[in-house]
Amino acid sequence: MLWALTLSFTLLAMLVLINCSQKKFDQPAVFRLVDHLDQVEFVASPFPELILGEKSLTPKDKTDKILDGRKRLIENLIEPVYWAPMTSHPLVLKFTKTPVLEREVAQHTRNVLVAPPKTVFRTHQKIAEGSVLEFGLGVLNARFKDLKGGVQFRILASEPSADIPRVLYSRTLQPGLQPRDQRWIDSHVDLKDFAGRKIWLTFETAESGVEESPYPFVSAWANPVILKKSASPRLSVILISLDTLRPDHLSCYGYGRPSSPRLDNFAREGVLFRNAISQAPYTLPSHVSMLTSLYPSFHGVNFVENGVALEDGVPTLADFFYRQGYRTWAITGGGQMNHSYGLFNGFENYIEYWISTDDLERKVEETIAFLDNHKDGGVFVFFHAYGAHTPYRPRPPYNIFVNTDYKGPADGELATIAKLNKSTAPMDQKDVEHVIALYDGTIRQVDDGIGRLLDYLKESGQNRRTLVVITSDHGEEFLEHHKMGTHSHTLFDELLRVPLIFWGPGIPARDSAVEEQVQSIDITPTLLELARIDPGRAKFQGRSLLSLIQGKRKGKVETYAFSERLPADDTHWRSVRTPNYKFILLQDVKDGRSLNYFFFDLLKDPGEQKSLVLSPGRRKAWEDRIQFLIEANRRNLLRAPGKKRTLDSKTLEILRALGYIQ
Ligand SMILES: [Zn+2]
Repeated sequence: MLWALTLSFTLLAMLVLINCSQKKFDQPAVFRLVDHLDQVEFVASPFPELILGEKSLTPKDKTDKILDGRKRLIENLIEPVYWAPMTSHPLVLKFTKTPVLEREVAQHTRNVLVAPPKTVFRTHQKIAEGSVLEFGLGVLNARFKDLKGGVQFRILASEPSADIPRVLYSRTLQPGLQPRDQRWIDSHVDLKDFAGRKIWLTFETAESGVEESPYPFVSAWANPVILKKSASPRLSVILISLDTLRPDHLSCYGYGRPSSPRLDNFAREGVLFRNAISQAPYTLPSHVSMLTSLYPSFHGVNFVENGVALEDGVPTLADFFYRQGYRTWAITGGGQMNHSYGLFNGFENYIEYWISTDDLERKVEETIAFLDNHKDGGVFVFFHAYGAHTPYRPRPPYNIFVNTDYKGPADGELATIAKLNKSTAPMDQKDVEHVIALYDGTIRQVDDGIGRLLDYLKESGQNRRTLVVITSDHGEEFLEHHKMGTHSHTLFDELLRVPLIFWGPGIPARDSAVEEQVQSIDITPTLLELARIDPGRAKFQGRSLLSLIQGKRKGKVETYAFSERLPADDTHWRSVRTPNYKFILLQDVKDGRSLNYFFFDLLKDPGEQKSLVLSPGRRKAWEDRIQFLIEANRRNLLRAPGKKRTLDSKTLEILRALGYIQ
């Protein structure tokens, strides 16, 4: 009887708790046209005049000039676009996860409805109170300077009762004449005059000032959205990944230098995980694991021979927020974070800014501008910057850790570090210390930039309804295992340990760090649970850390962290790490044969300097553990084999600057 009463009370308390927190934040109400193409009616389009395929590019009854214009239009669109049937939706050219075209203008990739001049489409919608229509417009051509004239974009509203449609928006873009028109132009119109009524919204494009060549422009509407403004605040979520950030070089993780005063504060106000392990020692597979909650072998995304992209249909963290009506926005450093690896999935806008590794400040300012435009909340932001990645170039006043008397050959440049790594002579400790001091300076710079973003959240009051997670994709090595200023090629702790800090509503300020070992793949299920989003049937290999965050889990739980260096040569590295031990297995890529292993007692040898010899039986037991992790998960999951892709010249240039390719 007593237990039944207690249970009822507990259930009641839980219900009250759930209700309270659910009341706290409104669900966003977003209607994206690109997700409701069945409600889009195409009135006019130049596409049906165009004929699919190489052979049919020779219409007999058309002049050469028109044919030339069509060729240009197709050339501008076709790479890397696949043509899809144009009968039902003539503006949809490539079926991605959302059946629209992803296109990039000025480093911003968006889902678009391709609308060359002479395109008219409309949708019939009932307009709710407090609705706004948001949209972007842009011209997709790569060679703007050849373009004369422009494209006029218009949005009209019409009701059955009115004879003449009302022009809600009109703007002409002239990218050949106006450099400011060579990017996406974002705008919105208030729909308050139509509240409670059903109207046709018509989107038109027309050539402006063009007489000669037909179809010189490929214009597009980016992600038109009818947004119902909320009366109460909505939860926002910001995931910050600071590339190449070693936790043991942060003062909040016990580093001797004051490298991270802002993050220290942030950690004091939130929950810091002392033993977080990433799933891969380099950028692309590690981030895909973080955003899909899948181990590298299972998402299959790798950076070899131009790379393998994520399969369509594998949901990412952004996908879940997108489906719940969050505005999803990413700002990244590009390179291995190129949108075409599948990282774009689920984002309404995916930005790749590469200036140099110290471009963090600009990204912070853009993020603040985005948040300021979405004061109601309901946004998911993924922020990535290469601030602590080579080349290490801390700007004044952040370059505070170097010994100013140092006169040696070392600096933070890639070429110098590569030369020092290649040299057969033992490295001079002073050179190594100088490089580390430069790295620490970049961390101080990154710390200050992120501090500015956190200040903004507090000043604007958004901190009360914004969850923030700060982590990294991998560490960096400084001669622990013979190399310096690099990562990617091993699975030792200097590359696998990452910072992980949660902050915001629902995160208690804890005076002690969480010691349990956790993984990057735990971030996605944790954020979904914190945002009360049901992942449905999605399979995750990580687990939610909510009970650890709330300090509810008692006792020691032995957890395995599994990491991989996917094949870059003949060897596949896999590691399984418990709080006490680490076993690293080197396997032949061709036949999976085990070639070698490392085994460390992490309590006695945290630096992994002395690999212990295992008896054949114990070695087999550890190998079986890795095999079991793979097999057990394989039974549960459809392995995504990934799809091969080719890289554009800009991405290759970024990868060269980061030292990933020659
Ligand atoms: Zn990275």
